[in-house]
Amino acid sequence: MAIIVRNSLTHKMEEFHPLVEGKVKMYTCGPTVYGTPHIGNYRTFFMADILRRYFEFKGFEVFHVMNITDIDDKTIRDSAKEGLTLKEFTEKYTKIFFKGIDWLHIKRAHIYPRATDHIQDMINWIQKLVNKGFAYVTEDGVYFAIQKFDKYGQLVNLKLGKQKVGERAKADEYDKEHVQDFALWKKSTEEEIKRGIYYESPWGKGRPGWHIECSVMSMKYLGETFDIHTGAVDLKFPHHTNEIAQAEAITGKPFVHYWIHGEFLSIKEEKMSKSLGNVTTLHQLMSSFEPDTIRYLYLSTRYDALLVFSEDKLISAKNSVEKLRNTLENVLAVLREPTIASPFSEQEEALLTKAHALKNEFEQVMDNNFDTPKGLKIIHELAKSLNKYLEGDINPGVLQEAFTIYKTLLGTFGLFKKLSLKDAALQGDKLTDELLNFLIEIRNAARKRKDFETSDMIRDRLAKLDVILEDTPKGTVWKHKT
Ligand SMILES: [Zn+2]
Repeated sequence: MAIIVRNSLTHKMEEFHPLVEGKVKMYTCGPTVYGTPHIGNYRTFFMADILRRYFEFKGFEVFHVMNITDIDDKTIRDSAKEGLTLKEFTEKYTKIFFKGIDWLHIKRAHIYPRATDHIQDMINWIQKLVNKGFAYVTEDGVYFAIQKFDKYGQLVNLKLGKQKVGERAKADEYDKEHVQDFALWKKSTEEEIKRGIYYESPWGKGRPGWHIECSVMSMKYLGETFDIHTGAVDLKFPHHTNEIAQAEAITGKPFVHYWIHGEFLSIKEEKMSKSLGNVTTLHQLMSSFEPDTIRYLYLSTRYDALLVFSEDKLISAKNSVEKLRNTLENVLAVLREPTIASPFSEQEEALLTKAHALKNEFEQVMDNNFDTPKGLKIIHELAKSLNKYLEGDINPGVLQEAFTIYKTLLGTFGLFKKLSLKDAALQGDKLTDELLNFLIEIRNAARKRKDFETSDMIRDRLAKLDVILEDTPKGTVWKHKT
């Protein structure tokens, strides 16, 4: 079945069909590196991560590009405030951005083009726009004449007409009530020239406007037409509207087939406890929460619905993650034990039928515009089936098969990245497992002869290595501490 996506360009739910069979070319508006990103910003980057993971789950090869805006109104303004050069300033916040991306286990894009590395490409494109009559030069820069582009404003159903020809917005951001010609190139101010923030161009010393950066860099790496462009919903106007105009005015081809926009995250401040304080950035949550909890929180609301962030939701996400992790750990512990295969019984068959049915269901809900909240419910159902199975006789082959499905679904949501490493140790590192079982035997022998000093020492030393021993009716098993 094809994946259905909400396409902002047509304002419809549509089947996704890639330009090239089996491949997805995707661009995401990346950060403007002028501060520590808000948790809402990371929600947008997370959305792109889920899209990518799900396309990969479906067998697509995804090529993902995300830009870094390291020159624009805001970076210039705030670098001056911090007393840093533009480069020092944007480097600092680029590092912070990546710290959050990696912490959240968001897959890194294949390329992160920086605006300042592509100035000549932008100048060339602006020159083409001027030559073709879509742009004009003024005393303070070069502007795009929106009246010249017939389809201007498709993303936001804009009807041109009321605004006066030649009304211009020099700032990168303005609202829909003030539709105007927008800046492609801005002549540097004296202050900017003094700070060395300028590039030579046919129109004098200056720098690109924000919107041209994304058109030029996306087409450079993905071609004049590509499959998916994502970003936050507030970028529809003017940013994405202008991106389309700049690109299509020259190429005459559709710039992007599917525009997918992520909704906002709003914060219910009154619900935050004192210990959490006034949380606005992901980085403030890093010391008190795990990445999986934040991922779960994002997953619990579909990308195109408003997510109201509250402490209650954080706690509930934390508890849900704990449940899923317990199942994962418990199955891993059982799979580590030498178990004699029981004959294939009705219980076995029921588990496998259920696991495969749930996997199909997962695909159905995710095919329907990436319905992650429903996807989570299905994963919980599979966890319940696994928990129940663990209570009876165990056939390791059957357990392994159902467990593989469980791990695949968790992996599609990027959950438990840490555990999957430990899992790899389980599959590959037999020696560790055997040594640990040997230590368990020594400890049991020590306990039998009431040598508690030795048995406690073994337990305590293992605890320091984050390995815990659990005495179960079936004997002692080892687990990774979480
Ligand atoms: Zn952009």
